[in-house]
Amino acid sequence: MNNKGIIVVVSGFSGAGKGTLMKALLSKYDNYALSISATTRNPRPGETHGKEYFFVTKEEFEKLIAEDGLVEYANYVGNYYGTPKAFVEEKLDQGKDVILEIEIQGALQIKKKFPKALLLFVTPPSVDELKKRLIGRGTETEDVIHGRLLRAKEEGQGIDEYDNIIINDDLDTCVTTMHEIIQAAHYTPDRNVEFINSIREQLSELK
Ligand code: 5GP
Repeated sequence: MNNKGIIVVVSGFSGAGKGTLMKALLSKYDNYALSISATTRNPRPGETHGKEYFFVTKEEFEKLIAEDGLVEYANYVGNYYGTPKAFVEEKLDQGKDVILEIEIQGALQIKKKFPKALLLFVTPPSVDELKKRLIGRGTETEDVIHGRLLRAKEEGQGIDEYDNIIINDDLDTCVTTMHEIIQAAHYTPDRNVEFINSIREQLSELK
């Protein structure tokens, strides 16, 4: 079987609970590596450089783009966000499944570059719940929350581009579901072309 890791894109509305979900997934299972993005947005209280994000200036970000150091990048509600290339390549080679927690424009770039990437979309059970979570987080101004809700409206149009949706209602159930979906993806024919070819070769020798 193919023992190279797969790229797993996780998108979802701001406030869908992706961060908590990713933390729980990584602490429960060994075989995942979470990519740390570069961003030009300011750190929220409690966020540290190199942990949640690499916080960089606009100039530093543009340098990363010019050096072809990013696998994808996008502008999201006024700030740049992008996935550093080296980490992704290194972890895939080690056989890890690499998780990119990114928004939809980036997800579509990944799908184009890596057609075998698995695209997952996380959503809360309702829009009321989404609003509650965004407001409850208490880290954004009313304007930013409004911007993010409007962005969610646009992102809702793109859900069909994803392979699976994951409804984030109960955290534990959600973590298990996500793990099972990722594991199942390892067994699709398009991700096992070499293995299938080898079976076919052996079959062709049957008389
Ligand atoms: P936040 O500011 O809430 O941390 O993130 C805002 C949005 O940017 C989220 O939807 C998050 O998934 C997305 N995001 C984070 N890192 C990246 C990245 O490297 N590339 C892209 N395209 N989106 C990202």
